[in-house]
Amino acid sequence: MNLPRTLGELRKSNFSEQRLSTRKVKDEIRENLMAKIRSGEIIFPGIVGYDDTVVPQLINAVLSRHNFILLGLRGQAKSRILRALTSLLDPQLPYVAGCEIHDNPYSPICKRCRDLIANNKDETPIAYLARDDRYVEKLATPDVTIADLIGDVDPIKAARGGHDLSSEMTVHYGLLPRANRGIFAINELPDLAGKIQVGLFNIMQEGDVQIKGYPLRLPLDVALVFSANPEDYTARGKIVTPLKDRIGSEIRTHYPATLEEGIEITLQEAWSRRDGLELHIPKYIREVVERIAFLAREDKKIDKRSGVSQRLPISVLENVISNAERRALRNDEKTIAPRISDVYAALPSITGKLELEYEGEMRGGDAVARELIRLAVAKTYDTYFKDLNMQQVVQWFDLGGEIRLADTAGAREILEGLKNIQGLTEKLSPLGIKPKEKTEVLVSAAEFVLEGLHAHRRIGRSEERVFAADKQAKRVEKPFEQEEQPLRNRRPYN
Ligand SMILES: [Zn+2]
Repeated sequence: MNLPRTLGELRKSNFSEQRLSTRKVKDEIRENLMAKIRSGEIIFPGIVGYDDTVVPQLINAVLSRHNFILLGLRGQAKSRILRALTSLLDPQLPYVAGCEIHDNPYSPICKRCRDLIANNKDETPIAYLARDDRYVEKLATPDVTIADLIGDVDPIKAARGGHDLSSEMTVHYGLLPRANRGIFAINELPDLAGKIQVGLFNIMQEGDVQIKGYPLRLPLDVALVFSANPEDYTARGKIVTPLKDRIGSEIRTHYPATLEEGIEITLQEAWSRRDGLELHIPKYIREVVERIAFLAREDKKIDKRSGVSQRLPISVLENVISNAERRALRNDEKTIAPRISDVYAALPSITGKLELEYEGEMRGGDAVARELIRLAVAKTYDTYFKDLNMQQVVQWFDLGGEIRLADTAGAREILEGLKNIQGLTEKLSPLGIKPKEKTEVLVSAAEFVLEGLHAHRRIGRSEERVFAADKQAKRVEKPFEQEEQPLRNRRPYN
């Protein structure tokens, strides 16, 4: 594409003065959004589960030319949504070449550019910004300063140029001016010190700011967007009132509403395309992994205020695949077929993502995570086998049968043992297992049935992964009752 290289050429192009001189960023994203809505295009591709909730509110905020904030817990795609706003920017934006704050060639705000244009007129060189260059993101922390965000007076610059300290020529620009004519996102807004929030507000409201006591006129053109944890944001005193007042829309994000949506997000985000071996992830494995997050979000042992990020099932799935990959490599197998034992092996990707309440702390992260996996297996098992009689399989164990299914053991070796359990391999059709199925896939399915029976306490399983009759088996099924262990044995006083 031949883009105009001088101000004179620019005037005669599509980037005319009439079109660009007063067009703000918010007008630009609004116009481009309107065109997308008219064409019926998907507006935020890759953002799953928000079509009826977050997306319409987001569209309204943009159409209203609001600065807005996304309120939500960890791992609810807030940053992703904010970044996706760049897709609503023009592909190329002309600015005065060399300008630190990307001045509009038709209405420059910095003195350097005004002088440059006055001297060079139509020969003033023009440069361009691509969409991604116009997005600046900052994680708010209490130690962010005015200098970081807005700028600082640079005495050396002043001395060299012979400028007064209050001259804008002496300012070393911070992040916000550098985001001029673009989108500036501040994550975790409540963590920003009150003084900085006031600075932000002044810029938004008046285009004026004080740097070290020197007033500076800086009428920036920025679309400001924010994110925050809802409780932090609503807590009294965390956000200065005038700033809150200038945030046009508050949009609440949420975790996936259904297991299917969760699975879709995890599928999209998890690194599952491994080079090398063929990968076959059974549907029940995806369901178990996703259910762990769903159950954790409801669990009273886990802190509700921090939430359970969607990154949990994503990391778990990646770890599950890796454990299965390791087994396939060790046993020289051609197919990676994850098993439930791989989910238990993925414990390191669960524990770090759960903020435990007091009761959870007492039980320990590992125990809480194991319990979540067991419940997820029980629930998933029921969706396939609830009405199927498994008595024959249970009986084999009751009659003294035992089998060890190590997560490192190869499929062929395990299949020999599984064949001894009468009736087991015939029960796998609800999982879509065909008679000529690959060994690795067949073994995973059979192991899932045994894990399901174990999750319902119909058969036992030792720490060494030996399945056997459950010594204290309760024959009455109580699938979703959580394991209740007293914190310590209470002895009555004498
Ligand atoms: Zn400039």
